[in-house]
Amino acid sequence: MTQDALVKGFISRFGSTPARMFFSPGRVNLIGEYTDINGGYVLPAAIDLGTYYAVRPNDTRTLNIYSETLDDQKSIALDPSAEPAPEGSWQDYVVGLLYDFHKQGLDGGGLDIFVSSDLPQSSGLSSSASFTTGLAFLLNDCWDSGIERVELAQAARRVENDFVGVHCGIMDPFAVALGKAGHCIYLHCQSLEYDLVPINMEGYDIVIADTQVPRRLASSAYNDRRAECNAALQALRKLLDLDCLVEASGEDIEACEELKSMPLSCKRARHVVSENVRVEESVAAIRGGDLAHFGELMQASHASLRDDFEVSCPELDVLVDAAMRVPHVLGSRMTGAGFGGCTVSIVPTDTVTDFIDSVGKAYSDATPYEARIFRTHPGDGVKRLDD
Ligand code: ADP
Ligand code: MG
Repeated sequence: MTQDALVKGFISRFGSTPARMFFSPGRVNLIGEYTDINGGYVLPAAIDLGTYYAVRPNDTRTLNIYSETLDDQKSIALDPSAEPAPEGSWQDYVVGLLYDFHKQGLDGGGLDIFVSSDLPQSSGLSSSASFTTGLAFLLNDCWDSGIERVELAQAARRVENDFVGVHCGIMDPFAVALGKAGHCIYLHCQSLEYDLVPINMEGYDIVIADTQVPRRLASSAYNDRRAECNAALQALRKLLDLDCLVEASGEDIEACEELKSMPLSCKRARHVVSENVRVEESVAAIRGGDLAHFGELMQASHASLRDDFEVSCPELDVLVDAAMRVPHVLGSRMTGAGFGGCTVSIVPTDTVTDFIDSVGKAYSDATPYEARIFRTHPGDGVKRLDD
């Protein structure tokens, strides 16, 4: 979306020009799935699609926010003594964030906000983290609250977890807040230690393919996987001194007799432990400019998520298989929680058009859905656009 279109959108809604403009990216996890809940690493990148905001102080105690994406406007009174409850709409992200800021003693004047997004919603590219973290950045900037980016990410996570009532980890808002163009983020989700790793994509693009499958099963499967990982950890702890599952090795898992009688937990543990090693190897490969090896690790990640962790689905597998049939594609895998959502592939720039045609066709032939396929680049974290 151009800044011009953003200005025009604001004027047509609120009748004057905006004072400030912001962009907040979506994110894609390149590798490291379900490692975050087991003490391990992830490797997301902010992408160049996301949520745009235009804003102007309105000299009142009301926040008027219009989402062009949803064609809906909300007006929310700024009241630090309010004890709001979620109402089950997109307003919850806004109200929850204001509540969080107010609880921290942060306050400021009313604002008119125009929001527009080019990020697919509910597809696993984290439009909710993009929207909420972007809004936190905007409030912090307009109210001059002086909050660090990491704290903004933590606030956005609290809003989703504690107010909206959606399980989500720190990875998404963290990538949105701290991404950098041309880099991926090597993040340890518990300690929040991180490194921005430059990724040389010369001659290649990151291509995302959205299954457009309605998200099913995801939350119950999430709880099952957590319980299975935890059972594996308990079994391993009888032999080893472990804080979390990723501290075990593949050999530890094979050697654990008790795990042999728990085949599901054993498979889940095998995924988590091998996936965490793949993240570390991926970082080394990317630092060394070896995208081909990174692609192999993506392949292994997908196989492990499909066969051992069992969170893929036929539609994701169709997309990955079709991607790997396109000549010179380096790697392809499901990204996010699974059971739908998107795949991520590393595709030579000059074959992206062929990729979109042939993967799209293979997908619509094999499933009742149409894939939405687009190229993207590792982009900046949330930022102001007008200075
Ligand atoms: P995702 O995988 O995209 O994060 P979620 O279901 O977690 O999917 O979040 C999508 C929700 O986030 C939307 O239903 C809406 O409530 C909110 N949201 C995201 N982007 C916007 C936007 N541009 N305007 C208003 N609400 C938004
Ligand atoms: Mg979300």
